[in-house]
Amino acid sequence: MNFEFTPRLKELSARGRQFCDEVLVPLEQIADEHGELPMDRRDAVKDQVRAWGLAGINHSKEHGGLGLTMLEQTAIEEQLGRVTNGLWSCVWRPPVSLKFGTSQQIKDYLLPSCAGHRRGCFAITEEGAGSDPRQVKTTAVLKNGNWHLNGEKWFVTSYNASDFIIVHAHVDNDPDKPTLFLVDKPAQNLVHLRSPKFMHNFAFDHAELRFDDVTVPEDRMLGKVGQGFELTKDWFVETRLQIASHALGAAIRATELANDYATSRHQFGRAIRDFQGVEFMLADMAVEIFATKTMLYRIAWEIDNGLDRKQIHAHASALKLHSSEMAGRVIDKALQILGGRGYMRENPVERLYRDIRVDRIWEGTSEIQRVVVAGQIRKRGLAVFSDWM
Ligand SMILES: Cc1cc2nc3c(=O)[nH]c(=O)nc-3n(C[C@H](O)[C@H](O)[C@H](O)COP(=O)(O)OP(=O)(O)OC[C@H]3O[C@@H](n4cnc5c(N)ncnc54)[C@H](O)[C@@H]3O)c2cc1C
Repeated sequence: MNFEFTPRLKELSARGRQFCDEVLVPLEQIADEHGELPMDRRDAVKDQVRAWGLAGINHSKEHGGLGLTMLEQTAIEEQLGRVTNGLWSCVWRPPVSLKFGTSQQIKDYLLPSCAGHRRGCFAITEEGAGSDPRQVKTTAVLKNGNWHLNGEKWFVTSYNASDFIIVHAHVDNDPDKPTLFLVDKPAQNLVHLRSPKFMHNFAFDHAELRFDDVTVPEDRMLGKVGQGFELTKDWFVETRLQIASHALGAAIRATELANDYATSRHQFGRAIRDFQGVEFMLADMAVEIFATKTMLYRIAWEIDNGLDRKQIHAHASALKLHSSEMAGRVIDKALQILGGRGYMRENPVERLYRDIRVDRIWEGTSEIQRVVVAGQIRKRGLAVFSDWM
């Protein structure tokens, strides 16, 4: 086993870190106070993403991306995770499902998305369909060469930064026919209901939308009828690794801040790190980070080395569960070490504390990840997690 970071990985990690510190961190408080990244800042950040060579980090060169391995992407994503307010999402990652499009769809959607000229958001969740997407009620019916979409979608992240939506709908109202559609904005009969406030102040909004007989040309169906889940499966693996990378970066930043503060803050005539109650918290935080980092990079390596797809899904679920819960524990301790200062909004640890909570909910809740892990143990045995396969 070779755990060494190659010069290439070191360079990508350093670039991600520098980009985060120089371009994104200065925007954190602006985004927090404004509720999201103000519109008049967005183009300048896009230009920076291109200038730093970070456009299309998750796609092949053939599709306009950087052609990075999963390990390489992870090295960058970990550093981006340090930033608060979800500003890591300024570095676009076009949905993986787009690569399964027709050559025309790749030309119209994927290539410009990798270049940062277009952006897509993803709409699966509905009022009655969260963890169980078979409950989706949005329908797609083909009439005279056009698909007609009807339904309502919730929590559509980055709607106000996007110019198209990938909509998950049931063809003919049949839950066995989950299918994806590319809907360009603006679309007639597409109603933006509202973008509610959330616990975090993210870079972009999370919208609620109504499709009131929105028509989509027949050739804007992505993949085939019934392929909705199949096309998003690999994307879920990728997003789970991204969440884990961001959770790790966030936990490391919070721990660095707490560690520095524990040295500089004096109470009762000594540095607070000299109280074992504080130093033991730092020890636990370091061990949590160490374990998560080892797990994350192992799974990124497994993806690059073609481990069996089912096993990768199982490992990605275990990783997402562990890393999101780890970040919650570690950042909570960091805030405790910072005392009252950690509770101030101007402190990044306070913002990380709010930001990280959603990682236990989106892209499959912690309970759903446990369902996946437990199902794998039952079907394929504990060795899926306990052995080298
Ligand atoms: C900020 C934010 C952004 C989001 N962005 C998007 C987006 O861009 N696109 C999109 O489509 N969706 C998005 N979502 C939706 C997200 O994926 C869902 O919130 C998530 O899948 C959970 O669904 P739910 O909220 O309806 O909870 P529910 O599914 O109703 O779950 C409620 C509770 O029941 C538990 N539960 C449910 N089923 C089981 C089970 N089988 N076993 C044990 N426990 C169970 C859950 O774990 C949870 O604790 C976003 C959500 C948030 C908060």
